[in-house]
Amino acid sequence: MSALLHVQGLRKAFGGLVAVDGLGFEVAAGDILGLLGPNGSGKTTALNLISGALEPDAGSVRLDGVELAGLPAHRIARLGVARTFQLVRVLPSMSCLENVAAGMAFRPQGVFGARARSLAIELLERVGLAHAAHAHAGDLTYIDQKRLELARALALAPRVLLLDEWLAGLNPTELQEGIALVRSLREQGLAIVLVEHVMDAVHALCDRCVVMSAGRWLAAGPTARVLADPKVVEAYLGE
Ligand code: ADP
Repeated sequence: MSALLHVQGLRKAFGGLVAVDGLGFEVAAGDILGLLGPNGSGKTTALNLISGALEPDAGSVRLDGVELAGLPAHRIARLGVARTFQLVRVLPSMSCLENVAAGMAFRPQGVFGARARSLAIELLERVGLAHAAHAHAGDLTYIDQKRLELARALALAPRVLLLDEWLAGLNPTELQEGIALVRSLREQGLAIVLVEHVMDAVHALCDRCVVMSAGRWLAAGPTARVLADPKVVEAYLGE
């Protein structure tokens, strides 16, 4: 299968600190790539560069051949790249339904009104949040805020989904539910980049992994092989 998302030679410096230094990988539809590395290795910066929250100094991010690097975040979202944030960013005073319905406006062909609300209900069911459709987002439990954050990302009808520690902080039952949900998204044909420290989730979900260390590519390949690589073990032990 040919890749949907191609990242090549991605670079970003903050002053003298090179946070991402020549990162490259490919993800196909229906594929889950783990983007791993110790704290400060550049994973969130990489997601910010791909989603347009930050502009790369160099490199290329292509979605189905279309160059995204340098485009503003809202254009990249409309072209089909959605993300969740490490610190959940829901609109706390709005209901879950309103949160998700509002996101529908940003689809390539914006969806509004009653149609947006009915699609929002479907998405809330999909992420296991139908019971809280009318609750204020700010009143949700942590796991439900995460579910809502995912539903908001899916409201864009993305082709690529960037998950920034979406499975962190869940109890074992919630983690299994979260893993099943991410699997169902893969089966639907999304290309997923998973930044994650929860190794059970990485093993359960990721076909391949790229490991970063101090902004640089350290190792890449099938998950089990990469995680057993002595260079990778050493990088994590150094945390
Ligand atoms: P990770 O997600 O792997 O923990 P980050 O991408 O958050 O790593 O950070 C990579 C490096 O870039 C760190 O040294 C961090 O301090 C630095 N960094 C991240 N964002 C900024 C910023 N906006 N300004 C300055 N330095 C930053």
